[in-house]
Amino acid sequence: MINKLCIIGVGLIGGSLARALKAADSVGHVVAVGRDVEHLKRAVELGVADSYETSISDAVADADMIVVAVPVGSMKTIFAELAGKIKSDAVITDVGSVKGNVVRDAIDTLGDDLSRFVPGHPIAGTEQSGVEASFSELYKGQRVILTPLEETDALATQAVTKMWHAAGADVESLSVEHHDEVLAATSHLPHALAYTLVDTLAQMHEHREIFQFAAGGFKDFTRIASSDPQMWHDICLNNRDALLDILSRFSGDLNKLTKAIENEDSESILKLFTRAKTARDQNC
Ligand code: NAP
Repeated sequence: MINKLCIIGVGLIGGSLARALKAADSVGHVVAVGRDVEHLKRAVELGVADSYETSISDAVADADMIVVAVPVGSMKTIFAELAGKIKSDAVITDVGSVKGNVVRDAIDTLGDDLSRFVPGHPIAGTEQSGVEASFSELYKGQRVILTPLEETDALATQAVTKMWHAAGADVESLSVEHHDEVLAATSHLPHALAYTLVDTLAQMHEHREIFQFAAGGFKDFTRIASSDPQMWHDICLNNRDALLDILSRFSGDLNKLTKAIENEDSESILKLFTRAKTARDQNC
């Protein structure tokens, strides 16, 4: 049981965690922190939080667990504000979709509190944002990746693991670098492709007709282009190197397909599509 949980950024991810822990009777009091008081009031009205604060130092002072759930580009400011203000046995974790830059931000700002910081990333979400979109089942059966540092206190990692288990998730550990490479390929590249595909089509003269006749496949493929632009802007720039590597590899493969279509090279086209179908059918 976490006596007092402080969620900084009560949107889809932070709000769903609070709801899941409340549903599992694993938290005493939830205090929400954010920039917009109307959003914070709504979190209390919805029962996601029990109280709210606009001052980070007031909110974290007596919290046992602090979850930073803001876009990754805002994490550094938050870490700097809470450093030195937490109880000596409090634990800090984050939910950012990128770990390398978030960890660098934590190292730069947290000082002596760094050993209490456990970097984390729930591999769960939807294209919706904000506290209204949060729901208690989001993490049921989903994975959470923790990337503890050499400095991280083992008890802090245990506490964060226990929290995610209570929310219904399975917890795994990866190195920071490995996390960022894998997520660049499986999540950040698909989001970049979905946004670009929709944008390309939206700029064509016939775009109304194109969207009018869009079938299920197009909608499935581009659903994630409805995700929050600010969040994905931050993710792309904060996982720049790993994303550039996989984008360059993908562009090369797309060029090969373009050439094969130009050359009416049915063997290459069929080989590629068959290989991809087999890989998807076996692994997804
Ligand atoms: P969200 O629904 O937009 O929630 C973000 C929350 O952060 C909002 O409540 C916002 O409230 C608050 N916020 C933003 N900037 C802030 C700041 N500078 N100080 C204090 N509060 C701030 O976004 P989300 O989808 O929950 O994503 C949150 C984090 O989870 C991101 O780091 C993202 O990378 C990660 N993540 C997202 C997903 C996903 O699929 N969505 C999955 C895994 C991890 P106010 O505007 O009221 O301040």
